[in-house]
Amino acid sequence: MIIAVDGPSASGKGTIAKALAKHFGYYYLDTGTLYRMVGLKVLHLGLDPTDEQACAAVAASIDPASFADAELRGELVGGYASKVAMLPKVRAALLHFQRDFAARKPGAVLDGRDIGTVICPEAEYKFFITASFEARAKRRHLESAGATLASIKADIKARDERDATRAIDPLKPAKDAVVIDTSDLTPDQALAHALTAMGS
Ligand code: C5P
Repeated sequence: MIIAVDGPSASGKGTIAKALAKHFGYYYLDTGTLYRMVGLKVLHLGLDPTDEQACAAVAASIDPASFADAELRGELVGGYASKVAMLPKVRAALLHFQRDFAARKPGAVLDGRDIGTVICPEAEYKFFITASFEARAKRRHLESAGATLASIKADIKARDERDATRAIDPLKPAKDAVVIDTSDLTPDQALAHALTAMGS
């Protein structure tokens, strides 16, 4: 059983995906973390995030088991992640880990940008989580330590544009995805919408 949850940053996709995994007792993978790990390492090594060969070598070397790095979460690393995510060889290097993870029994929930369209087009359930630009910026602002709302809006806008317009695996809803707008929903209401769509 595979549940694919895609959407832009701060849409609430991670919250819904985690809650679904908990509800059904499935494994959970935040695939953005993989791109963030590559972005952080590229940043630390002082590499050029447009150098495809160098970034692909980094992607091939990351250890997805070392997930809990607080440094991964910030918008600086998010920006680097979205730059390396434009490179086909980086995406290819991360593909197998995601597909292997999706095959875990009894089931897996993966969240990201291309789960329902590219990584797991065969997923039994697909969700595309969205929210208004204002709602997303406010959420990020509440989580952030000190960044201004204006700078957060600029970062989100730049990242949205890169993610939605890149040539490979752009962010877009799968044709068979259920779209949930979380702008005015609590996490519990969003989960209830998803469960209703699944008939459970
Ligand atoms: O979801 P998160 O904000 O952690 O993702 C960071 C970046 O990683 C995204 O902006 C996107 O460019 C990239 N990403 C991707 N495909 C995924 C997950 C994330 O391209 N499946």
